[in-house]
Amino acid sequence: MSRIEIDPHDACARVEAGAITGSVQEAAARHGLMYPPDPASLYMSTIGGNIACNAGGISCLKYGVTADYILGLTVVRADGSILKLGGATRKRASGYRLTHLFIGSEGTLGIVTEATLKLIPLPPHRATAFITFPSVESAADAVANLMAAGHLPCALELMDEGALRLVRHLLPAVLQPGVGAALLVEQDGPLAEVAEEELFGIIQVLGGLENRIAQSRAERDRLWEARRSFGKVVMEGRRNYFSEDIAVPLSRIPEMVRRLRQLSDSTGVEIALVGHAGDGNLHPNILFGDDQRNRAGQVAAQILRDAVELGGTISAEHGLGALKRDFASTEHPGAALELMKGIKDLLDPNGILNPGKIFPTGPADDEFLSRQPGWGQGHHELGL
Ligand SMILES: Cc1cc2nc3c(=O)[nH]c(=O)nc-3n(C[C@H](O)[C@H](O)[C@H](O)COP(=O)(O)OP(=O)(O)OC[C@H]3O[C@@H](n4cnc5c(N)ncnc54)[C@H](O)[C@@H]3O)c2cc1C
Repeated sequence: MSRIEIDPHDACARVEAGAITGSVQEAAARHGLMYPPDPASLYMSTIGGNIACNAGGISCLKYGVTADYILGLTVVRADGSILKLGGATRKRASGYRLTHLFIGSEGTLGIVTEATLKLIPLPPHRATAFITFPSVESAADAVANLMAAGHLPCALELMDEGALRLVRHLLPAVLQPGVGAALLVEQDGPLAEVAEEELFGIIQVLGGLENRIAQSRAERDRLWEARRSFGKVVMEGRRNYFSEDIAVPLSRIPEMVRRLRQLSDSTGVEIALVGHAGDGNLHPNILFGDDQRNRAGQVAAQILRDAVELGGTISAEHGLGALKRDFASTEHPGAALELMKGIKDLLDPNGILNPGKIFPTGPADDEFLSRQPGWGQGHHELGL
């Protein structure tokens, strides 16, 4: 279930659903091609899982998410029949785009067994910078300004003070006291000078306290290791955590980070923030002790409500699963959720495919975490 075939002439990959995302990228790169969707979990997540959750990642700012790279799918339906959708063509306007019905459906409509993925030329050069800011609010303002100024870097990652503290041992010496947040920004291009010149322009617009441009491949890799290892560091930490996955329109990022800061201050629950800031996707990580369980649930619920209130989504790239299903109706009140239920009933009338996911089974309230099986007993890792 993990076969990978690269077709350089059609610039596509035919892969089985169990193929590891990072292996697909490496196979494509050997032909000078790129499969851009790159969740931080790329060395453990599968293409089937990425399709089920419409995975995003660091490069999605410039290149788009998994849905933008699916040309064809083979799906096993609930009745055991096999559905072949799409193919290797890059355009198709003949009827409903059924491939997209299955992308992001979290395995509730069918099981993906094979996919044809679009590949693009691999940009050969990259330039990377680490920029510090006095506060997370000032970093968020800088992100909104950058996009308004017409720049499109290939990565723009945000880490607040709490997140920086957790991965400090992996970061450059530029991290001085007084730093409240940092942006990791990267631009790619056909020539090293082009990537560098664009990066300089981006740094000028972003401003900040100090910046460090990676001088070597090794330095660039170290910066990315610090960002990518954040999830692992949190998982290995002593405290319970719940990782959110919201997105808001770019202009509302400053307001969302202000609300997160106020929420943390008023409840005493620590929130360490990382995010694919360039596409408005924020991962507030709620870190809490056993005695803070109730408040952690309230904080998590408030973050979901705030994201929707600011015109955003309660899940940008991880899906709802069973964990956030009760908030589905907050984002999709009325007809849209009913239509989703109708599609589910049509394709899976006996409800055998991933039952209990996506659709609410309880109210969207502060108790949604308390209703999770096992909540309240021992160390908890939820989300990501
Ligand atoms: C440390 C860490 C970092 C992460 N970073 C990111 C990130 O940057 N961006 C991002 O988008 N996600 C991220 N994730 C979340 C997760 O890795 C992704 O959502 C990924 O797409 C899930 O793929 P998987 O193979 O792990 O799927 P699983 O976790 O095994 O499954 C996820 C869902 O997909 C369904 N599913 C799996 N395979 C199929 C199939 N073949 N057909 C139908 N349904 C299927 C499962 O039933 C389940 O509901 C991260 C996770 C971790 C642990």
